[in-house]
Amino acid sequence: MSNFVASVGMEVHAELNTQSKMFCRCPVAFGGEPNTRVCPICLGLPGTLPVPNQKAIEFVLRTALALNCTIAMHSIFHRKNYFYPDLPKGYQVSQYGETNPLGYDGYLEIPQKNGSTKRVKIRRVHLEEDTGKLMHLPSGGSGVDYNRAGVPLMEIVTEFPPDITNPDEAKDYLQQLRQTLLYLGVCDGKMEEGSLRCEPNISVRIEGSDSYGTKTELKNLNSFRSVQLGVQFEVRRQIATVEQGGKVAQETRGWSEEKSASYLMRIKEAENDYRYFPDPDLLPMAFEQSDIDNLKAQLPELPLAKFQRYQADFGLSAQHAEVICDDLDKADFFESALAIGGDSQAVNNWLTGDFAKLLNDRGLSPRASKITPEHLVDLTKLIGAGTISGKTAKDVFAKTFETGTMPSEIIKESGATQISDEGAIRQVVLGVIESNPDVVAKYRSGQSNVKGFLVGQVMKGSGGRANPEMAQRIVGEELEKQ
Ligand SMILES: [Zn+2]
Repeated sequence: MSNFVASVGMEVHAELNTQSKMFCRCPVAFGGEPNTRVCPICLGLPGTLPVPNQKAIEFVLRTALALNCTIAMHSIFHRKNYFYPDLPKGYQVSQYGETNPLGYDGYLEIPQKNGSTKRVKIRRVHLEEDTGKLMHLPSGGSGVDYNRAGVPLMEIVTEFPPDITNPDEAKDYLQQLRQTLLYLGVCDGKMEEGSLRCEPNISVRIEGSDSYGTKTELKNLNSFRSVQLGVQFEVRRQIATVEQGGKVAQETRGWSEEKSASYLMRIKEAENDYRYFPDPDLLPMAFEQSDIDNLKAQLPELPLAKFQRYQADFGLSAQHAEVICDDLDKADFFESALAIGGDSQAVNNWLTGDFAKLLNDRGLSPRASKITPEHLVDLTKLIGAGTISGKTAKDVFAKTFETGTMPSEIIKESGATQISDEGAIRQVVLGVIESNPDVVAKYRSGQSNVKGFLVGQVMKGSGGRANPEMAQRIVGEELEKQ
């Protein structure tokens, strides 16, 4: 038995969330009636002229900079020619060549379990246009929906030989890349709607061998999990094929979610000849260094940097930092709360605990909820000052979540403030001791564990409002009195 090594190249297509399509003014949106967002340009009718979407070019440049790429200061569009009904013009506008894509020779760092990072080299980041979509008609037969045709599409391809060697890394890479695109605000990252699509190519080779195995390409992966499972399945299938004396065929395979297995879509006998040539209708792009420098200066803090900063500066665990950074809205909430005087640990506890749970249950982001950073900081300060107990805080938080009323208002109205008045608590303690003589006797005969029961009775007797530490202490003091 030989040891096998897998190599996974990642090809990711991201639809850019611009207002309009790449070369016309048709709006970019998801779903809707087929062929309602089309015009002569994106339908490729003769006599039309494309006008490039500047925003889309800027989005790709931003991404290329965030992915540490070299920027092509001069770059052109090519026509990629092939015949398929989803392509109304008979060609797709794309970018060909090694150093012509808007960005090339970059990398993305992905966090590792041990706290270090792994660098995944990126070969190219280029701009193209999306195709239409073939669909089965309810009446039978097939139709084409061109709503998606001409939507600006960014392609991000990893370097060969690939740095990714296993299914987990493939998933981690995609997650980190998706987060980066979301932070940059260039793509909505919705894999289930196809605005972010991932097509890994997978090969295996015997450890130590210099030559790479034949690649298969995997399609129809619409979640992180399916990327992970799909790559895992392909690696195992290829190893089994080689071990049984077979040969891996160069083919495109689909992923079946139901069967958790890949299936043959088509065999690639030869590389397609797309007859790339410069698009004569589109002017070459040229950029000034000062413009690129400006774009670079305007990049936001990226997910990995934020993830590392939250751990280093606020002492968050990797797990909590990941939960908060995973959602830019949560990260903004966290930072806003800190900016108005919130304690990082207290805010983190709510944001990754009760608050996260309520948000998950309702499928909301923090911004869509009634809780603002002001509400949360108000609440954590009330707990910190001992005005309310942790238990009361949970109830108050739930009320604030429903109504948007300030926690301090709720407490003022309900009188649910924590009792920290020593005399008042001692009163309750004395009552509890008096009505539980048998328990007190047990304590005095050496069963010190019954103290917890008495403290519980005090909490109950105060409606849960007694300061728990004080209750604990005073019960102890009274029990020691003979
Ligand atoms: Zn159009």
